Amino acid sequence: MAIQQPKLPYEMNALEPYISAKTIEFHYGKHHATYVKNANNLIEGTPLADLSLPKIILTAASDTVLKGLFNNAAQCFNHEFYWNSLTPKKQGIPSELEGALVRDFGSVEGFKKAFHAAALGQFGSGWAWLVADRDNRLEIITTGNAETPLTKPACRPLLCLDVWEHAYYLDYQNRRADYLTAVIDNLLNWDMAARIYKAT
Ligand code: FE
Repeated sequence: MAIQQPKLPYEMNALEPYISAKTIEFHYGKHHATYVKNANNLIEGTPLADLSLPKIILTAASDTVLKGLFNNAAQCFNHEFYWNSLTPKKQGIPSELEGALVRDFGSVEGFKKAFHAAALGQFGSGWAWLVADRDNRLEIITTGNAETPLTKPACRPLLCLDVWEHAYYLDYQNRRADYLTAVIDNLLNWDMAARIYKAT
């Protein structure tokens, strides 16, 4: 079973004016596609080729010889999660999740500020995530480069932000903070986050 690049859940220009079609063309069409191609080249003809993507990632994470495969396979997962974390349909936050955000961050605004600060503060390339733990407590974490919450015990990702420069440079150049504000205020897929939150 080769690793697939899932279809983008919206049109390339659907996230404008916050993320341009040009950015998505490169980000989905080149960067993400290259991770999929590299990961498939690395598993081809090995027993790993028969495993699911999460199993490939967990196997590669436990063996330093497989670091190259880990990086490419984890980026496949992280990018799929990122595309699904965004939506052109501006949404309210479903009440159960909203209650949890208020409980764990003081307010929705408090969450947004903390998410922005964490993503802005991730030094170099990486990701910011809203995750739920075993007790369904919400937490914000960041991961460097290709690192992914999949390898952390009892850590369910609900939303993520890509803070690699390729995610925003064409539209915002060095202004990561402006990219983050635009995405957090306008594009987050709260329905998906609430669905995952509920499915304990
Ligand atoms: Fe990316």
